[in-house]
Amino acid sequence: MKKIDNDTYEILAPIDPHSHFRSPAQIGDAVFNVVVDENSRHYDVVYAEPNTFLDQSDLKHHIEHADDVLKYRTLLQERQKGFGGRASIRVLAKLTHNTTPEMIRALVQLGVAGMKIYPENVTTGSSHGGISDFFHRLLLECLRTCEELGLPVQVHPEYPGEFSMRKEFLFHRVIGTYCALFPKLRLFVEHITDRRTLDLIQVLSKKYPVHGTIASHYFDLTLDDVLGRVDNHCRPNPKEPEDREALILAATGGESCFLYITDSAPHLWKNKHLSDDECAGVFNPSRIAIPWTFEIFEKRNALHMFERFTVDNPSKAYGLTHSGREIRLIRKRWTVERLADPTGDKERSLTPFRFRKDLEWQIAE
Ligand SMILES: [Zn+2]
Repeated sequence: MKKIDNDTYEILAPIDPHSHFRSPAQIGDAVFNVVVDENSRHYDVVYAEPNTFLDQSDLKHHIEHADDVLKYRTLLQERQKGFGGRASIRVLAKLTHNTTPEMIRALVQLGVAGMKIYPENVTTGSSHGGISDFFHRLLLECLRTCEELGLPVQVHPEYPGEFSMRKEFLFHRVIGTYCALFPKLRLFVEHITDRRTLDLIQVLSKKYPVHGTIASHYFDLTLDDVLGRVDNHCRPNPKEPEDREALILAATGGESCFLYITDSAPHLWKNKHLSDDECAGVFNPSRIAIPWTFEIFEKRNALHMFERFTVDNPSKAYGLTHSGREIRLIRKRWTVERLADPTGDKERSLTPFRFRKDLEWQIAE
């Protein structure tokens, strides 16, 4: 990080190993283009989550097979070229009860970024292909294969069927058992919201290659911000102010077991506000997520830890080499607005994180 003056910094472009790009079949062509740009623009590397369908006639078919990863990666990279995007976009595949070790080997050959486990019915896109039996024989064989191949496995850490405020804590038993069964498995416990999970990761990471990721909207939101405000609805749901404080301390503390993510998860306005289906996720594009995280680190006198959290820790954990690309942040207050659909249709617009709130910093384009 280079401090040019009090109001200008040059930083290494962060790495975001957890973002939702959706697909043209899911949000339409024009909005998809907006999302590809907004979710990737200022990153060095960004990972696309696999809970999306590419074909309108087959909503239950997510990114699971080598073919799907190839198709999705090509689609994302082609769209990105259209606006000169520079981030390297990598794609994850969903680990379901139908996944086999052979499928995982084929995915690795194709350069998949990792596998993702969604417990059944805990979040968007987990009502099909979600895991209902965490210790099923075939699933354990797949995890053994990931361990042998050194393939990262991301997990959404919530136990199905439990009370929302306890789901994450009750998932600890699965994490602990996976570590004991597969001591070399590169496990990523995603978007921590419960302070007890931070403690668990700190302890486990001393012995196992386990990491915890922290999404920057949880530096802001608590349960009170979600009640009655569907734009802030996300899974796991934000918890208590004490959890939010613990997440900020973990991120700014610089420990190598904690990494930056956005979990940027756009939903069309009409789906968030008018649909009967649950639409969990906060849209947190790079031009909001990065200045917001920077603001938090500055307020905590922790700017010296910013690149550790957003670049060093993710690179090391995922075995990535940073390209050296830099972005410039300037101190200039601005107000976050809704992102219009290019056709001007409000129902197809996206409401981002910090909507109608101010940010202290912005990225110089
Ligand atoms: Zn996610």
